[in-house]
Amino acid sequence: MNKPFLVFVLLAGLLPLLPTPEFWITLANYIGLYSIVSLGLVLLTGVAGLTSFGQAAFVGLGAYSTAYLTTAFGLSPWIGLAVGLALTLAAAFFIGAITMRLSGHFLPLGTIAWGLSLFFLFGNLEFLGKYDGLNGIPPINLFGFTLEKGREMYYVIWVVVLVALVAVQNLLNSRPGRAIRALRGGGVMAEAMGVNTAWMKIVAFVLAALLACISGWLYAHLQRAVNPTPFGLNAGIEYLFMAVVGGAGYVWGAILGSTLLTLLKDQLQSILPKLLGANGNFELIVFGILMVVLLQRARDGIWPYIRRRFPQKPSAVAPAFAPALPMRQKHTPGEVVLSVVKARKEFGGLVAVNDMEFDVCAGEIMGLIGPNGAGKSTMFNLVTGVLPATRGQVLFRSGGALRRIDDKSSREIVKLGIARTFQHVRLMTHMTVLENVAIGGHLRGTHGDVAGIATSILRINRSEEDALLFEAKRQLERVGLGHLLYEEAGSLALGQQRILEIARALCCDPTLLLLDEPAAGLRYLEKQALADLLRKLKAEGMSILLVEHDMDFVMNLTDRLVVMEFGTKIAQGLPAQVQQDPAVLEAYLGGVD
Ligand code: ADP
Ligand code: MG
Repeated sequence: MNKPFLVFVLLAGLLPLLPTPEFWITLANYIGLYSIVSLGLVLLTGVAGLTSFGQAAFVGLGAYSTAYLTTAFGLSPWIGLAVGLALTLAAAFFIGAITMRLSGHFLPLGTIAWGLSLFFLFGNLEFLGKYDGLNGIPPINLFGFTLEKGREMYYVIWVVVLVALVAVQNLLNSRPGRAIRALRGGGVMAEAMGVNTAWMKIVAFVLAALLACISGWLYAHLQRAVNPTPFGLNAGIEYLFMAVVGGAGYVWGAILGSTLLTLLKDQLQSILPKLLGANGNFELIVFGILMVVLLQRARDGIWPYIRRRFPQKPSAVAPAFAPALPMRQKHTPGEVVLSVVKARKEFGGLVAVNDMEFDVCAGEIMGLIGPNGAGKSTMFNLVTGVLPATRGQVLFRSGGALRRIDDKSSREIVKLGIARTFQHVRLMTHMTVLENVAIGGHLRGTHGDVAGIATSILRINRSEEDALLFEAKRQLERVGLGHLLYEEAGSLALGQQRILEIARALCCDPTLLLLDEPAAGLRYLEKQALADLLRKLKAEGMSILLVEHDMDFVMNLTDRLVVMEFGTKIAQGLPAQVQQDPAVLEAYLGGVD
């Protein structure tokens, strides 16, 4: 626990004990309720990059579940909570499975659609009191105390806020949390590291919905009455405002945003009608303008400006020692590990890869070279399952035999032991170097999907985390970046970022390493160091397929070369032979001689 956190807890704890006016307590209660929903949006929108306008509907689900059960059947609010959470879990899972697949603008539109549907459901069901809602909701009973007053509810609400805050923070600083953070940027990288991105999106969605549901439950028992109005699209938009204004990428941003917007709304609601001489929700206009300004000036919200004033500790620290993770068995030197058979890729009329054929043997460095646009990266994407081949086969040795992998997804392929880097580096720029590399260890975690999330939230995942972070550190030291563990990945020079990607790929424990132009952007000495590293990996039994555009770099490094031009293999052999090949000279020098 850090000092600012303790000061915050102390201040929050004192507020109701001081002669604080009732009105301030009410405001603080609402800030707390909004913070809980916004925390869910930090996870969903700020971290995972999935925009939702529909969170208010889940608040409504939580509020109506308990309102109905307690008023119609006289059940305990705790049963109301349990049923609300179960309903939300089911609804969010179902809705998430449908909408989380949508991309671009369709996802926010989808959230508006189901947000509206749930809202109209609340307003039109006879047993939920239609638009009048339900009254006479009993207060919560906790350890024999009945929480009737706002001051009493204050503690419950803010304890929930703090628990939710710590829970979200714990989750983010863990293996499943890193997987959720890696969703940003399209998911190609995450899938290549073995993350099931579709599942992780649903996880983020369900967790955000559950937080909204808890907020709704508290709301119902604070207000003691519910009607559909606070759960409509307007509220959904306001929740999103709060998260974005505060800083959707940060848990404290949720609380800051909820506080600022609640206070601002309260002030504007009393000032604006007087100023304009008419009644209306004028504050929404101000919010709209504020949003536009913010998106122009400070996309990350206000929290980063405050955060800068406090010394930052890295969110994940590698232990000095941890037991080594189990490693995959290496292939027998010399046997074929990868075999490409008449692989073809067409983009419309363009044949980017034209019936390519080559093998990679265990323990060798195979170079795939060719001028820009030759189809090298596309060939890589066929091997790693990023793109489906139009025709042909790719086989990889696993479990002792060569098996087809061209029908597998990139997530399944990395599971078999093929790890890759990207020509255009794909890093989580705001995460530390260490955490970026730890994403590579995703598949080496020991906890299952649900258990991993639960243990992370409760922070009883330390042995797994220690092992993964220690492994990430070990790989970084292996590639020579051991002195940069806690730097932001985005602050590294491009050459170092490429090396970081190699460390991340090594963290997958591959038997075949695919490197797409790792030397691009490196200085001479850095290239030498990279070549040394690749030789060292080879000596340890690693098989490497190296895409390069720079002939000089591969000449002394590779065992064999395949040369591509316009998607077609034009030469193959030992580097010295290939260098003399007229077709290759023609391709590289454009027939100068
Ligand atoms: P290299 O990596 O050798 O420079 P690429 O594999 O990136 O070459 O590209 C080979 C050819 O395929 C280029 O003409 C490129 O424009 C085209 N290409 C690559 N990806 C796509 C795509 N997703 N859609 C259409 N054309 C593509
Ligand atoms: Mg390329």
